[in-house]
Amino acid sequence: MLGQFETLLPLAAEWAAEEEARILREGVPLAEQEIIDAKAIGVREPERVRLLQVDTIPTPRHPILKAATGAIRFLTSAPRGLTLGHGIFVRSDCWRDRSLVAHELVHTAQYERLGGILPFLRKYLFECVTIGYPEAPLEQEAIAVVTRICVD
Ligand SMILES: [Zn+2]
Repeated sequence: MLGQFETLLPLAAEWAAEEEARILREGVPLAEQEIIDAKAIGVREPERVRLLQVDTIPTPRHPILKAATGAIRFLTSAPRGLTLGHGIFVRSDCWRDRSLVAHELVHTAQYERLGGILPFLRKYLFECVTIGYPEAPLEQEAIAVVTRICVD
């Protein structure tokens, strides 16, 4: 898996960029409370974020990527959300779930901090491959921040 990493990374980044563009086109802006949470989390451009409601979180159709996502459990068996830059997929039954949106917003802040889709995926996927999900530090950061923000 690690040997294929540099081959898979650009494919994953391409897929992520296409899906982000779709979310930014078709999604809705953050609500007032979500903007407040986004600022507390450290998202630099909360007004750019869009949420798109979907029945199931999309996965890459590319056969190599499909195999890879399964192998490293980048996506859990039934993910509730997926963040691609400023685009966030939210599963219908979790729509406007405050802690889920906050969790995904931490990932948006990480994309901003690391400099976009490619550098984020490089770090995130590498952590998932070498350390595992959800023990990956970027994942642990999201879990910790949500515990701090959503104390009510
Ligand atoms: Zn996460």
